[in-house]
Amino acid sequence: MKAAQEAFKLGSPWRRMDASQRGVLLNRLADLIERDRAILANLETLDNGKPYAIAYAVDLDLVLKCLRYHAGWADKWHGKTIPIDGDYFTYTRHEPVGVCAQIIPWNFPLLMLAWKFGPALATGNVIVMKVAEQTPLTALHVASLVKEAGFPPGVVNIIPGMGPTAGAALSSHMDVDKVAFTGSTEVGRLIQQAAGKSNLKKVTLELGGKSPNIILSDADMDWAVEQAHFGLFFNQGQACAAASRTYVQEDIYNEFVERSVQRAKSRIVGNPFDFKTEQGPQVDEEQFKKILGYIKSGKQEGAKLLCGGNPAADRGYFIQPTVFGEVSDNMTIAREEIFGPVMQILKFKTIEDAIERANSSMYGLAAAVFTKDIDKANYVSQALRAGTVW
Ligand code: NAD
Repeated sequence: MKAAQEAFKLGSPWRRMDASQRGVLLNRLADLIERDRAILANLETLDNGKPYAIAYAVDLDLVLKCLRYHAGWADKWHGKTIPIDGDYFTYTRHEPVGVCAQIIPWNFPLLMLAWKFGPALATGNVIVMKVAEQTPLTALHVASLVKEAGFPPGVVNIIPGMGPTAGAALSSHMDVDKVAFTGSTEVGRLIQQAAGKSNLKKVTLELGGKSPNIILSDADMDWAVEQAHFGLFFNQGQACAAASRTYVQEDIYNEFVERSVQRAKSRIVGNPFDFKTEQGPQVDEEQFKKILGYIKSGKQEGAKLLCGGNPAADRGYFIQPTVFGEVSDNMTIAREEIFGPVMQILKFKTIEDAIERANSSMYGLAAAVFTKDIDKANYVSQALRAGTVW
């Protein structure tokens, strides 16, 4: 905290720096990450279990794009002149918030870091980031690259601590000006409460989801099956926007289910360093057990287990790609975020029926609709109460 506060003092090298120079530093950081791309992808796979090929090609690609995108914003962050009645000159001046605590999850460790670094640094803030206890390695390597890029000391601080101690200390700290959190809804509530009970710091929350994916009967079947599979199973099912409620119109339901099961059965699970692997292990034992618990509840509550349902190996946290059919809206597996490779397929009759059921959730992070009819696509996407609709 002290280092961050020093770095943010008026007259410090960081505060005196030209906006365009902040962009230069962010671009330099991106260049160093690109130089160390293979090292970082290796560390990410070791720490998180995601396939190396994905870490290298997808995660690192998005990290670089995110940092470079925000580097471009550094000197384009304009205020406004505002015409008001009377003889006045009125303008807004954008200023940095100050010390920003950033608390991130383990599912995309580097990408979540980039999402938080980019906007905060482009706009002149200083950062105290608490990385997830399960996956601290890539952030620690990036910390050394921050230094190498030439950011002044104290501008970026990385803490690999635990949530209820290090994370809670940040969210209730009186000298933190803002906390930006990405993680579970449950912890998001604690963060907002801690901010309210301390100094009313600004809070940004990016939380969980139970995103509906609506497949209309006119959809291109090959495309819909593959995208629904990807939307759920990507990253071992550990994605905030995972399409974890697949609503399928009744006249194509049987074919869609059959083909989704075939696709899940062909998913390659195994050593994440093998280039053929599509799915590695879950991040840790806690998640592994939680997911198996949800599978058990799905069976107990009457959903039809169509494939998978068990560990995929006799050691490690591998889980078979699992598909449930005949799922109904009130089942636990249709309401709660499973965060694992478990697909729920639900049947619907009319578009109105699908919209109403899709919106009947405490979440609203993302949603998707598959149809060849642009009118239906627009109608459904506007009716869905979700932050992003694909
Ligand atoms: P989590 O909430 O358990 O942990 C997230 C972070 O919060 C970790 O760094 C953890 O140490 C910290 N933390 C835990 N308890 C805390 C406390 N009391 N005070 C302060 N910090 C605390 O989430 P997770 O299991 O690491 O990540 C999975 C969750 O993240 C899922 O719910 C997923 O949907 C969500 N997520 C959301 C987005 C998004 O953009 N909306 C992106 C990725 C992940």
